[in-house]
Amino acid sequence: RLHNDIQELRGNIRVFCRVRPLLPEERERQRGMPHLHFPSQDTRSLVLTRPDDSQLGRERRAELRYDFSFDRVFPPAASQEEIFQEIQLLVQSALDGYPVCIFAYGQTGSGKTFTMEGPSPAGAPESRGMIPRAVRHLFRGARDLAAKGWQYGFSASFLEIYNEALRDLLLARGQHGSELEIRRLAPGSDELHVPNLTWVPVESEEQVLELLQQAGSQRSVARTALNERSSRSHSVFQLRIQGLHTARDLRCTSSLTLVDLAGSERLEKSGSVGSRLRETQSINSSLSALGLVISALCNKEPHIPYRNSKLTFLLQNCLGGHAKVLMFVTISPLEENFGESLNSLRFASKVN
Ligand code: ADP
Ligand code: MG
Repeated sequence: RLHNDIQELRGNIRVFCRVRPLLPEERERQRGMPHLHFPSQDTRSLVLTRPDDSQLGRERRAELRYDFSFDRVFPPAASQEEIFQEIQLLVQSALDGYPVCIFAYGQTGSGKTFTMEGPSPAGAPESRGMIPRAVRHLFRGARDLAAKGWQYGFSASFLEIYNEALRDLLLARGQHGSELEIRRLAPGSDELHVPNLTWVPVESEEQVLELLQQAGSQRSVARTALNERSSRSHSVFQLRIQGLHTARDLRCTSSLTLVDLAGSERLEKSGSVGSRLRETQSINSSLSALGLVISALCNKEPHIPYRNSKLTFLLQNCLGGHAKVLMFVTISPLEENFGESLNSLRFASKVN
């Protein structure tokens, strides 16, 4: 620990659950959220209930009830600022040399991108998501530490993993990069890197917002069905942090990684053919590989199966060791999504 006496977190892996509000157009279709319950005075629990259809026909309808608890549960009214308050210490620890990795997991439309980036990267400051807030916090923290003789440098990358292929999202307009590879830094080394990935030096929040927008346009250049594509790929924003204290001859390197995962919805394998089937299989297998890696880390198992997907292989250096990991599981408030919400909550409970 270099600078701050950061309160030790319980373990290095935490799970936060966020339920998004009903959108204006959804309020007509569904009044309230009768199936979701947030026990009062408890910021860690979420209960799902619904009538048990198999009991229909009996005199009294039984109710199915599913209880979940996480490190934090955020009800629909929680603001971006409130949520950031809960993660800022975690983010701050990246300046102390801890790799910090934050994921958003959930079905398409549940609020992953809203949580990570905001409604649009350059939206109103109060609606900005965790990426711009985190970088602003780190830049400020670095300025404060400059008074103590520390000099920090930051650079950012943004890539997409689609069908187990890595693609740079920060190439200049019109430039088409080939598929990126993950390599060992040296033979036998555990350190990984991605040759040819663009790293952009950054020193302000606005610069990072520009990069997010640039990445958005890269994605749309590659394919017109932007939403479709983004819901079926993982996007990985990474900030590399280098600190140097010349007088004391100290150095610290770390990273902050924010991952907007592919939609977790169960995709009909039977109905999918060709490229769609391949997409479906690669999403399912990389999300389950991530779940296995995180639960192996939680259980302190001797072997962590990083090599089963590009995502976990890429993040190997940011997940194990003294890394701090946070998973947001995002939940749709719609009753029609009950089944997907239950699946997401079960996945998140398993890794917790
Ligand atoms: P995902 O990335 O999981 O597919 P989005 O982040 O795109 O989902 O969210 C789906 C829609 O819901 C978007 O229109 C988004 O702006 C809106 N939304 C998500 N979370 C919130 C929230 N907490 N408050 C207001 N609107 C939200
Ligand atoms: Mg999204």
